[in-house]
Amino acid sequence: MGGRVSSRIDSLANEGVRTLSPYQPGKPVEELERELGLTGIVKLASNESPLGPGPRARAAALAALDELARYPDGAGTRLKNALSRRLGVEASCITLGNGSNDVLDLVAHVFVSREHEVVFSEHAFAVYPIVTRAIGARAAVTPARDFGHSLEAMRKAITPATRLVFIANPNNPTGTWNTRAELEAFVDAVPEHVIVVIDQAYEEYVDEPDYPDCIPWIARHDNLVVTRTFSKAYGLAALRVGYAVSSPAVADLMNRVRQPFNVNSIALEAAEAALEDEAHLEKSREVNRAGMAELTRAFDSMGLAYIPSVANFVTFELPVAGEKVFHALLREGVIVRPLDAYGLPRHLRVTVGLESENRRFLAALTRVLRP
Ligand SMILES: *Cc1c(COP(=O)(O)O)cnc(C)c1O
Repeated sequence: MGGRVSSRIDSLANEGVRTLSPYQPGKPVEELERELGLTGIVKLASNESPLGPGPRARAAALAALDELARYPDGAGTRLKNALSRRLGVEASCITLGNGSNDVLDLVAHVFVSREHEVVFSEHAFAVYPIVTRAIGARAAVTPARDFGHSLEAMRKAITPATRLVFIANPNNPTGTWNTRAELEAFVDAVPEHVIVVIDQAYEEYVDEPDYPDCIPWIARHDNLVVTRTFSKAYGLAALRVGYAVSSPAVADLMNRVRQPFNVNSIALEAAEAALEDEAHLEKSREVNRAGMAELTRAFDSMGLAYIPSVANFVTFELPVAGEKVFHALLREGVIVRPLDAYGLPRHLRVTVGLESENRRFLAALTRVLRP
């Protein structure tokens, strides 16, 4: 009976949603500690900052607790003004979101209908197929080049039915990136009926001189949307706050469909304070640089191949199924990310942690892979 009812309900759902599998988040530490009867588990599975927020963001979040009975500022005026000054764009170009995930979803809802196509790469961020299929639109998935985005394949995949292209720069879970010249040529070549989203969730970590800040390009391209987040380098993943920068015309459309209070007041206050805390951001970058060097050196000496990454995680290749090593690492109290869902069943992704966490991970991996 229950089954019959739920399959009837299921058949009422829009076709895209019916065949959708939900985003798989990393398991919370507490849940795993209960399950395994372990303590002191190390979670390097969701690209979170090992430092967490800085002292200023933390103090601002705490101070915001005094106003919990009030609705947040639905326009997010102060945070938008702070971003406007920081990024050198008008506040009217900024759309705040409940995480940048929210703005990715908003862009798709504004521009994409069932008859449209959305272009993104193989091994790209999991949210792109989810938002595409939730609308019932067709996903045009292009083959990767050296695990990263082939912008040439993506350009060729554009048809008159294409409305949206998602580019993650750098990409998660591969840590790959596209240069300024490549990306600028791509944006210039895209026809006007296509919206290009460049997702820069890890922008703060990238040290490459040819890595582009794409925000200035919105002045020339009213079909370009650049997204960023406070979840990664700023260490505020729990608060859910990110944003899009676009032409005011696109921002106006996104503003029509967003929930009126999509960013809460604690997040607004903490994000604004985090933007002012340059020292903490620099510390995040330093910890990441050192940790990335440590992890990749260890992979080299273990003879494990990895995909060179400019972000705060690295994806490495295994001689056996990633899922198997993932479970063995769990039993050692270390959570990483299996990548079967990304078409990479022989790889695992590990987030760069604190020195002590990286060492725990490497010691566990060495034990697990010992013949
Ligand atoms: C983590 C991540 C995001 C953003 O997540 P939010 O917490 O929703 O801001 C966006 N894009 C990519 C590629 C990511 O890895």
